[in-house]
Amino acid sequence: MSNAKIVSVDPTRFKLNEQNDSDFHLVGFKCIKCGIYIFGPATNCQQCTERQVVPIEFSGKSRLYSFTVINVPPAGWTGNTPYILAEGELLEGPHVLAEIVGMESNELAINMPIEISYAIDESGKHPMAVYKWKVTN
Ligand SMILES: [Zn+2]
Repeated sequence: MSNAKIVSVDPTRFKLNEQNDSDFHLVGFKCIKCGIYIFGPATNCQQCTERQVVPIEFSGKSRLYSFTVINVPPAGWTGNTPYILAEGELLEGPHVLAEIVGMESNELAINMPIEISYAIDESGKHPMAVYKWKVTN
């Protein structure tokens, strides 16, 4: 086991608790004016342009909105190929693209409950925590 500190692949989208590896969340903002949620970094609301947006943690509970099998991965992809890229719709509304793991594409169905899980990518210089979809048990 490596003692290297595990960092999030993108702390503006995925937050880890270094003391507790079962404590992780997709993060973003909520608009105090119109109430919509935004996944990832934001300085103003994407719907009403309000500048007062407050940081929030998403529950991770979602439904499968769409998916596709990627046979030709983007440059720098270090995972398996082919893989399933899924668009999940968070309970709070935003859509998030990530690999879905633990299932074959013919086992998936639109609107299935899915949730965020995480995996450690050790292919680089430092281990990185990456977020992935999985089907909710
Ligand atoms: Zn707004």
